[in-house]
Amino acid sequence: MQQNYEQLVDRIAKEAGLDKTEIDRKVEAKRAKLSGLISKEGAAQVVAAELGISFEKQKMKITELVQGMRGVNVVVKIINLFPVRSFDKNGRSGKVVNMIIADDTGNMKMVLWDINHIALFENNKIKQGDIVEIKNGSIRNNELHLGSFSEIKISSENLTEVKTEISYLEKKIKDIGIGNAVKIRGIIVQIFEPRSFEICPECRKKVSLEGECETHGKVSPIKRFLLNFVVDDGTESLRIVLFNEHMEKLKLSDEELNSSELFLKKREELLGKEAFFSGTIRKNKMFNNPELFIEDIKEVDIDELIKELETKGK
Ligand SMILES: [Zn+2]
Repeated sequence: MQQNYEQLVDRIAKEAGLDKTEIDRKVEAKRAKLSGLISKEGAAQVVAAELGISFEKQKMKITELVQGMRGVNVVVKIINLFPVRSFDKNGRSGKVVNMIIADDTGNMKMVLWDINHIALFENNKIKQGDIVEIKNGSIRNNELHLGSFSEIKISSENLTEVKTEISYLEKKIKDIGIGNAVKIRGIIVQIFEPRSFEICPECRKKVSLEGECETHGKVSPIKRFLLNFVVDDGTESLRIVLFNEHMEKLKLSDEELNSSELFLKKREELLGKEAFFSGTIRKNKMFNNPELFIEDIKEVDIDELIKELETKGK
């Protein structure tokens, strides 16, 4: 959340009436004093508190939120709502609901744990597309978490332009967490044989071995592919899941997926390729390890990287 750190420092500087470099200096001094035991994000929050700035009474923007922040107040639009789930873990049972929230600066995942909050969703009092006011949330693993001391209610504010485009955070594989939308720069070190399955042309759900859809009965199924490969970024390696609709991002054609001879040739080309791999980290239930579900693959453009480094240095 490097960008978020920058946004937060901007805000602290503005509220304190100080220069941004002055805040940066204070953050570094604080970290040095604590022998680097505190993150930049954490140190910035301590500096803010020492300057008498409390964010707990203020409305924040999504891009200003950093790890460890508490008392978070935002007004956001629910752009993607996932079903309520029940869990039973280590003798503790309860419910949880996840959603993606957005404002005019960015978007992020929000997780609700309180049974009263969850009832609002179960009873359709709050739904996807609604604008809500959040009070007293906290940031954990780059997600906004609401507990029983938090508040959520429909807002009368009108958020017209929200950032629905997912912002992937560039991360090292060793630092990823389940649910993160990440961008990994790495090298393809292993590629497995593609697996095929068949889906219904109507609803795009998997069909049975007999070619029957649960809803549409006997259909002419469409063949689709799934590809697994492994990317290494020098810190660790990560298993990648690539679905049919994203195959062209690896320049893999249907012919190549259908013929093992053509596929093996393509595999030779792809092994050792370096790229940015963006998507969401999910847990593989069978192996119990994280996997990256690809939403985007971009070539590493050296010229662009140099340009980026130059502007950062200024
Ligand atoms: Zn169907």
